[in-house]
Amino acid sequence: LAKLLSVQQAQARILDLLTPIGIERVTIEAAAGRILAEDIIAPQDMPFFDNSSMDGFAVRAADVLHATPDAPVSLKIVADIPAGRPSSIALRPGQAARIMTGAPLPDGADAVVPVEDTEFEPASTERLTATHVSVYTAVSPGSSIRPRGQDVTAGQTLLRVGRHIQPQDLGMLASIGKMDVAIFQRPKIGIFSSGDELVQPGQPLGVGQIYNSNSIMLAAMLEAEGAQVIHLGTARDDSRQITMLLDSAVRQQVDLIVTSAGVSVGAFDFVREVIEAHGRLNFWRVNLRPGKPLAFGVYDGIPVIGLPGNPVSAFVGCRLFVLPAVYKLAGRKQALPRRERAILTEAVESDGRESYLRAIVKQPPEVGDQLTARLTGHQGSGNLYSLIEANALLIVPSGVKSLPSGSEVEIWFLDD
Ligand code: AMP
Ligand code: MG
Repeated sequence: LAKLLSVQQAQARILDLLTPIGIERVTIEAAAGRILAEDIIAPQDMPFFDNSSMDGFAVRAADVLHATPDAPVSLKIVADIPAGRPSSIALRPGQAARIMTGAPLPDGADAVVPVEDTEFEPASTERLTATHVSVYTAVSPGSSIRPRGQDVTAGQTLLRVGRHIQPQDLGMLASIGKMDVAIFQRPKIGIFSSGDELVQPGQPLGVGQIYNSNSIMLAAMLEAEGAQVIHLGTARDDSRQITMLLDSAVRQQVDLIVTSAGVSVGAFDFVREVIEAHGRLNFWRVNLRPGKPLAFGVYDGIPVIGLPGNPVSAFVGCRLFVLPAVYKLAGRKQALPRRERAILTEAVESDGRESYLRAIVKQPPEVGDQLTARLTGHQGSGNLYSLIEANALLIVPSGVKSLPSGSEVEIWFLDD
């Protein structure tokens, strides 16, 4: 019996065979949630000019050095500078300019006194008629000023290739005047389930039949990572039907095919055989629990990951092998789930395979105490309820058959 591939070896074999798909340019309006395919470099300093961070009066700090509420300093108002309308004036000693947030600082000024610390008559918010302003506080040079380049300097890398573009990134792109960006195309993934027993929800269930729960679960996992899912349908346990669906995926030029079920050693498991007949099977078993029967190959030039049929095996297999494949195709840097360490509050048994068990991880009330973990219940690979109850997967390393209560284990949170 050939030695089983480790999870890591199997992941590497899949990733080795995949290359990132193409790049497209889109307007920034269409870039939200997509993956950046170019580094974004600041074309200029930001802010681009020294400006006020407050509504108030631009002053020379030296003029108001001794200002206090009891002994305000009176300055002559020589300009009124709203945002967007720079003034060509240069402040001389004893002078001030009313200035609004974001307005360019006039020459000669080196600080802004917030309007709350001043008084002028009549205090109109719009048309300024006052000739003098009383300043009630001293300010140090630079106070309430956003100097040019405070945020970003010209030439600085702002966003890197592989970045998942967030709303604040779009704000940054717009603020440097960019109209379009290069992004990776969305991987196109064809999926189908196979099995004579499968029925779609909504249809009556015959004796011995079950509803197809894998297709919708897998599609949602892929779509959440930005993939474009093509539902190829359901194949009966029949080589011809499986071939038909794989051929349809090839015609639709998907980047990856994901199937569920029919890859084990059952008498009606035809997926492996069909892949072998039209391409090459790379591996079909992994040292993994749940999910040992997991196949990978290339069908007519398109990579195929054959997930096991049992729903929890399909979930774990998708998390471990398909999502990394989506990341690679999409040009994103690999991201594992949020990992922590936790203390087992019960003994855990496994069979020596690298195991991803459904667990409930709790944060104890005392800050600084370690997380605790226990299993959610029956770990049968067909039992979806113990998966929906779980908030984490607890990892038992390969070669370990039992862990006593109190052991420290690695866990992956499911809800990130
Ligand atoms: P198989 O890999 O074909 O031996 O299937 C293993 C187990 O998973 C069997 O109990 C199947 O009934 C079940 N199964 C297969 N496909 C699905 C599916 N799409 N949804 C839910 N259960 C499935
Ligand atoms: Mg089957």
